[in-house]
Amino acid sequence: MNYGIDLRNYEAVIGLEVHAQLSTDTKIFCGCSTKFGNPANSNVCPVCLGHPGVLPVLNKKVVEYSVMMGMATGSRINENSIFARKNYFYPDLPKGYQISQFELPICEDGVIKISTEERGAKEIRIKRIHMEEDAGKSIHDRGYDTHVDVNRCGVPLIEIVSEPDISSPEEAYEYLTKLKQILLYLDICDGNMEEGSLRCDANISIRPVGQKELGTRTEVKNMNSFRNVEKAIRFEIERQTELVDDGGKVVQETLLWNADLNEAFPMRGKEESHDYRYFPDPDLVKVVVDEKWKEGLKERLPELPAEKMEKFVNVYNLPEYDASILTLELEVAKYFEECVKYTKDTKSVSNWVMTEILKYLNENKVSIAQFPATPENLAKLVNLINDRTISGKIAKDIFPEMIQGGKSPEVIVKEKNLVQISDDSVLEPVIDEIIATSEKEVKTYLAGKEKAIGALVGKAMKATKGKANPQMVNKLLKEKLEAMKTA
Ligand code: ADP
Ligand code: MG
Ligand code: ZN
Repeated sequence: MNYGIDLRNYEAVIGLEVHAQLSTDTKIFCGCSTKFGNPANSNVCPVCLGHPGVLPVLNKKVVEYSVMMGMATGSRINENSIFARKNYFYPDLPKGYQISQFELPICEDGVIKISTEERGAKEIRIKRIHMEEDAGKSIHDRGYDTHVDVNRCGVPLIEIVSEPDISSPEEAYEYLTKLKQILLYLDICDGNMEEGSLRCDANISIRPVGQKELGTRTEVKNMNSFRNVEKAIRFEIERQTELVDDGGKVVQETLLWNADLNEAFPMRGKEESHDYRYFPDPDLVKVVVDEKWKEGLKERLPELPAEKMEKFVNVYNLPEYDASILTLELEVAKYFEECVKYTKDTKSVSNWVMTEILKYLNENKVSIAQFPATPENLAKLVNLINDRTISGKIAKDIFPEMIQGGKSPEVIVKEKNLVQISDDSVLEPVIDEIIATSEKEVKTYLAGKEKAIGALVGKAMKATKGKANPQMVNKLLKEKLEAMKTA
């Protein structure tokens, strides 16, 4: 209910904690598989089950991926970092502690640049990125018993903690989109939120506009999509605002988002007690990332979203809007770059990809990797329009056939005899016929309403089954009609 709250007196302060599962084949401290969907409790060994006397051995790839994420966000890579034990009891945590990083994380002080329509460009600072192992999973929806699947115990994660620099649900959404984009470009996480490879907890507080110190925050968990993160934050800002406006006080607590009810509910009791008694894990030595290792990893860094974006604007001369859409997914960007090897008309390729291709992918729920028309064929189609072999209309008509049959557009054009008619001697009789039989449109045109020519062009295109060169039709029609005016 709205009690006439003036939201403008408050501003929201948001900090996000994102867990990303690193796509290594094996776990962080043992050789068990990380494969999702294997039978429950089959990806396990004494190490990840925490049996007495076993020793963890750090997976080198986890360090490398973490450092790459640090570099991609302009973070400082700490030469020394330390694993710590985070102690708590939970049925899905057989060891009784989770190995994480506490005082000395591997990366600190980075930044992710975002831009929203409402607030423009902004830098969101990253406080830290640390490595940790995942816990298992309690399953509560199989009858009366609770089941435990510990396959996920020991799966490698990085936690990316932002500073409380985010000011709105939209900015949070944008930040997550950018963060996921970087992970996917680096190819260190599959970004799948449904399978839990990407999870986000949101810390939210409000304060009177102009106040420097932060208000009391709550933490909302359990959102399974970026849209739900956005919704949960909006819900919580409104809840806090109403509460404070009614003279109440925000209590620091953890809430769980319920996507069915579109509401967040406080998590109960003990699960929240936060005394983890962190201490350095005596079974693990400190992690040392020296200059040489860093140099090697820097060389392995792929082109990142921001660089791609810049290239699309400056090298391919695309509007920023196009560039941002085309570079959102690395595979789409790659498809575009393949296309423009075969044509100079980058803007037309961009239009085709942004409209027809993305529409197809959306409707068929497939990724561009599964898109049947090759980049070379799309480029050929663009070239056929530009050299006036076919009209844009014909191009749209044969596009589905290029997708279905995988044929090149040249072959389709030949087979179906679709070559554009640009020959005066063929077009003139068609146009004369149309002028003769379109009394009404001709009259309207001659009366000064030149827009009426559109209908006549349409008729000529129809009469030629779309094969007439529309520019030529336009030109010829104009000439003939103007001649009628002076006659
Ligand atoms: P903790 O150690 O309890 O996890 P941190 O200081 O690491 O707390 O902060 C966790 C997250 O909460 C960070 O993303 C941080 O930006 C955010 N945060 C901290 N204080 C606030 C606040 N008052 N309002 C909103 N977010 C906050
Ligand atoms: Mg935290
Ligand atoms: Zn194991």
